[in-house]
Amino acid sequence: MRKLVFATNNKHKLEEARKILNGSVEVLSLADIDCNADIPETADTLEGNALIKARYVKEHFGYDCFADDTGLMVDALDGAPGVYSARYAGEDCNSQKNMDKLLVELEGVDNRRAAFVTCIALSLRGGEHIFKGEIAGIITETAKGDAGFGYDPIFKPFEYDKTFAELGDDIKNKISHRARAMEQLAKFLNNLID
Ligand code: IMP
Repeated sequence: MRKLVFATNNKHKLEEARKILNGSVEVLSLADIDCNADIPETADTLEGNALIKARYVKEHFGYDCFADDTGLMVDALDGAPGVYSARYAGEDCNSQKNMDKLLVELEGVDNRRAAFVTCIALSLRGGEHIFKGEIAGIITETAKGDAGFGYDPIFKPFEYDKTFAELGDDIKNKISHRARAMEQLAKFLNNLID
């Protein structure tokens, strides 16, 4: 079976990728290839950061690889926190501080539209390909729900009247930005002629 590295050690992401790619490729983690590097994400776009990670693995380890990067784009903030979503509240931030900052920035703002966007970069057989997944919704006024991570308690997708954190992983993983990008990747890989 074809081996493909997913440039992550996040167990949830690996599990999700293996499920969606459905046995068509063997998905290896960074740990599986003994890559201990903390690959710097220095680009100012999601696509750029995903490409940095995929190229790093290809150049240093020789494996075909895909990598992802995600951001929460808020319309009223001109797309912020976007590519800086992980460290929106500064160096020693965490999910709570990031959400608090976002809620303060949106105090009194009527347009609360936002979207999670995931970019996946694939480096395969000397070529590079980009896949995108997106889900739109609104930023709530207060945090609700315990499931998930990151901004999940304050993001309500348009399709539901609950936040991602209230919906739980089963529903979220069917409709999420990451799942949608991963499905694009799966479709591309399934259409390849070996
Ligand atoms: P990453 O590129 O997957 O590491 O995501 C960057 C940041 O975006 C994370 O640190 C989270 O703050 C946020 N994020 C990414 N995916 C999600 C999600 O599914 N729910 C909530 N927040 C997310």
